[in-house]
Amino acid sequence: MQDNARKTKTCQEESCSEQWSALSPELRDQCTVFVYCPFCANEMVTRCSSCGEPINDIGYKFCPWCGVGFE
Ligand SMILES: [Zn+2]
Ligand SMILES: [Zn+2]
Repeated sequence: MQDNARKTKTCQEESCSEQWSALSPELRDQCTVFVYCPFCANEMVTRCSSCGEPINDIGYKFCPWCGVGFE
Protein backbone atom coordinates (compact mmCIF):
# COMPACT_ATOMS: atom_id res chain seq x y z
CA MET A 1 0.00 0.00 0.00
CA GLN A 2 1.16 3.49 -0.78
CA ASP A 3 1.51 6.37 1.63
CA ASN A 4 -1.61 8.15 2.77
CA ALA A 5 -2.96 10.92 0.62
CA ARG A 6 -5.36 13.73 1.30
CA LYS A 7 -8.66 14.73 -0.17
CA THR A 8 -8.15 18.24 -1.43
CA LYS A 9 -10.96 20.47 -2.50
CA THR A 10 -10.04 22.88 -5.23
CA CYS A 11 -11.52 25.09 -7.89
CA GLN A 12 -11.56 23.78 -11.45
CA GLU A 13 -10.58 27.17 -12.84
CA GLU A 14 -6.89 27.39 -13.67
CA SER A 15 -7.01 31.16 -13.19
CA CYS A 16 -7.77 30.62 -9.49
CA SER A 17 -4.89 28.26 -8.76
CA GLU A 18 -2.54 31.16 -8.13
CA GLN A 19 -4.87 32.68 -5.56
CA TRP A 20 -5.38 29.30 -3.92
CA SER A 21 -1.67 28.60 -3.65
CA ALA A 22 -1.21 32.00 -2.01
CA LEU A 23 -3.41 30.92 0.90
CA SER A 24 -1.83 29.48 4.02
CA PRO A 25 -2.24 25.69 4.50
CA GLU A 26 -4.41 26.33 7.59
CA LEU A 27 -6.74 28.55 5.63
CA ARG A 28 -6.87 26.07 2.75
CA ASP A 29 -7.87 23.32 5.19
CA GLN A 30 -10.84 25.42 6.26
CA CYS A 31 -11.82 25.89 2.63
CA THR A 32 -12.49 22.16 2.19
CA VAL A 33 -16.02 22.76 3.52
CA PHE A 34 -16.75 25.31 0.80
CA VAL A 35 -19.07 24.38 -2.02
CA TYR A 36 -18.21 27.30 -4.27
CA CYS A 37 -14.89 28.92 -4.99
CA PRO A 38 -14.56 32.26 -3.15
CA PHE A 39 -12.56 33.67 -6.06
CA CYS A 40 -14.76 32.83 -9.04
CA ALA A 41 -17.98 31.28 -7.62
CA ASN A 42 -17.54 28.06 -9.60
CA GLU A 43 -18.37 24.79 -7.87
CA MET A 44 -15.38 23.28 -6.06
CA VAL A 45 -14.22 19.72 -6.75
CA THR A 46 -12.75 17.28 -4.22
CA ARG A 47 -9.70 15.52 -5.62
CA CYS A 48 -7.22 12.88 -4.55
CA SER A 49 -3.91 14.57 -3.74
CA SER A 50 -2.05 11.55 -5.10
CA CYS A 51 -3.56 11.09 -8.56
CA GLY A 52 -5.64 14.27 -8.91
CA GLU A 53 -8.82 12.43 -9.91
CA PRO A 54 -12.14 13.76 -8.58
CA ILE A 55 -13.67 12.02 -5.55
CA ASN A 56 -17.45 12.11 -5.65
CA ASP A 57 -17.98 10.87 -2.08
CA ILE A 58 -15.97 12.63 0.62
CA GLY A 59 -16.62 9.68 2.95
CA TYR A 60 -14.33 7.40 0.93
CA LYS A 61 -11.43 5.95 2.91
CA PHE A 62 -9.52 4.98 -0.21
CA CYS A 63 -9.20 6.60 -3.60
CA PRO A 64 -11.30 4.67 -6.13
CA TRP A 65 -8.86 5.65 -8.89
CA CYS A 66 -5.40 4.91 -7.49
CA GLY A 67 -6.13 2.95 -4.29
CA VAL A 68 -4.31 5.30 -1.94
CA GLY A 69 -5.62 5.55 1.63
CA PHE A 70 -6.81 8.90 2.93
CA GLU A 71 -5.74 10.28 6.29
ZN1 LIG B 1 -12.23 29.56 -8.62
ZN1 LIG C 1 -6.09 8.77 -6.20
